[in-house]
Amino acid sequence: MVAEASLEISRRQFLAAGGMTAAAACFAPRYLIAQTGGIVVGAFKEAATAKVTVQTLRRNISVLLGAGGNIAVLTGPDGKLLVDAEIVTARPNVSKALASINGDPIKQLINTHWHFDHTGGNEWVHEAGASILAHENTRKHLSKATRVEGNWQYTFPVAPAGAIPSTVFQDEHTLHVNSTTLMLKYYSPAHTDSDISVYFSEADILHTGDTFWNRDYPFIDYGTGGSIDGHIRAAEANIAKVTDKTIVIPGHGAVGGKADLILFRDVLVEIRDKVAGLKKQGKSLPEVVAAKPGARYDAVWGNLFQNPSDFVTLVYQGV
Ligand SMILES: [Zn+2]
Ligand SMILES: [Zn+2]
Repeated sequence: MVAEASLEISRRQFLAAGGMTAAAACFAPRYLIAQTGGIVVGAFKEAATAKVTVQTLRRNISVLLGAGGNIAVLTGPDGKLLVDAEIVTARPNVSKALASINGDPIKQLINTHWHFDHTGGNEWVHEAGASILAHENTRKHLSKATRVEGNWQYTFPVAPAGAIPSTVFQDEHTLHVNSTTLMLKYYSPAHTDSDISVYFSEADILHTGDTFWNRDYPFIDYGTGGSIDGHIRAAEANIAKVTDKTIVIPGHGAVGGKADLILFRDVLVEIRDKVAGLKKQGKSLPEVVAAKPGARYDAVWGNLFQNPSDFVTLVYQGV
């Protein structure tokens, strides 16, 4: 009961941070699908009005929590460095949140992966003065029209020239900004084939991008190299990287720590194993969805981006 209660509190905190009531958040994505015919179109709409809140973490680092991917902000004499740039329609509220920290210009942007809820602001952030750094596959996917299946069912057009990362790397990259050492590390294909982590050494803060969703079922983008097994490998890598003192910024959900990474890994492994077992017995996708392999997590984990059947469908595809 204690564990369940704390899960519920975390969730409410996250929803409050996103500017939605719990009741609205539970139903908004489904409702928007009915209205617009797609979760991506719904996300554009939602991000245009969703509140973006600033949470101070440690040293000169904060996080912006809104409708899209979480943005880490490092401040100092070199100007602001951002990790991720939200959905394009969140620009007014992201700008306001950044200005509330201080008036320094944005000088650098790092993308954790290519998805629109993390790179949507690339063009305007670049125009504001930032150079963009990412994994080479982020540049590859932004440089051409890219289709995403699953419950997205959306073809993203070629990104504008200003949104394309000017510096890319393959495996590791280190930079020094605002008296901080940032260590960037490529995961093997996980959520996509472009995922990187960003570790702020002195502050002991890890931004995982979408390899970690704090109490939400993750999306898995098979079309650009993601898989359930890759997601689990990245979850293991994240656990190995942190201590109990590390602050962990997920791609989506509230800021957490090592225990939350372990829970995420355990949920993915449990559901993957159950779905794989049922598929091996010859069960069809509708039968596996009906068996509710994530029943004990669905109420908390299945009501924001992927509902339980969306997530089981993604797992079934990969086992
Ligand atoms: Zn995301
Ligand atoms: Zn993503």
